[in-house]
Amino acid sequence: MKNKKENAWKWFAKYIKLRDAIKTTGDIFFIRCITCGDLKPIEDMHAGHGIPGRMNSILFDEELVNGQCTLCNCSHGGEYQIYKHILLIRHGIDKWKHWQSVKTRPVSFTDFDYEQIAKFFKNKFNNLKLNYSHIH
Ligand SMILES: [Zn+2]
Repeated sequence: MKNKKENAWKWFAKYIKLRDAIKTTGDIFFIRCITCGDLKPIEDMHAGHGIPGRMNSILFDEELVNGQCTLCNCSHGGEYQIYKHILLIRHGIDKWKHWQSVKTRPVSFTDFDYEQIAKFFKNKFNNLKLNYSHIH
């Protein structure tokens, strides 16, 4: 079970980081951190949640998770106040309330679910990379 979950997270995080590299810098080598705005190499970035806890209900939420530097995500405890402010601007108060209401909802994934999640994000990652390579 643990490996399936790790694999699903691996592809999700790879997709989020590639998406945000392209979105914030136009290339696939650097990302601008969502909370401090610093440019860092993609290898030094995490896919960081805007709400703490890593509960299953919000674990693979593409809007709630963004490229975040290890300093903000780890050393600075997630920078949740700044992150919240940015998410409110991007997605509005209703979406924020939605996340608050679903975050503690119990969600359990089977091995099959994790396989599907991994497949889904691996596909998104590969498509994004392919599109990028076509324009560069
Ligand atoms: Zn940062």
